[in-house]
Amino acid sequence: MDAFRPSPEDHLIDNGQVYCPRRKRDVEFDLCAGCAWTQSIDLHVTPPVVRCAPDSSPGWLIRPWV
Ligand code: SF4
Repeated sequence: MDAFRPSPEDHLIDNGQVYCPRRKRDVEFDLCAGCAWTQSIDLHVTPPVVRCAPDSSPGWLIRPWV
């Protein structure tokens, strides 16, 4: 395991929303499709899940308004 890469986390999609660990709030899961931290989006499981590995990038790289 690469010590410099964070472990991916599973975030369940509920009514089109997913808890975003970077923004610390629920976001539309569409946002994950264009997110640099997305590793996979699986809509064929129940419940659907986004797997992402947010890193420690500085906050100014995040667009909290989207
Ligand atoms: S993929 Fe990006 S937008 Fe989606 S939950 Fe993870 S960090 Fe947030």
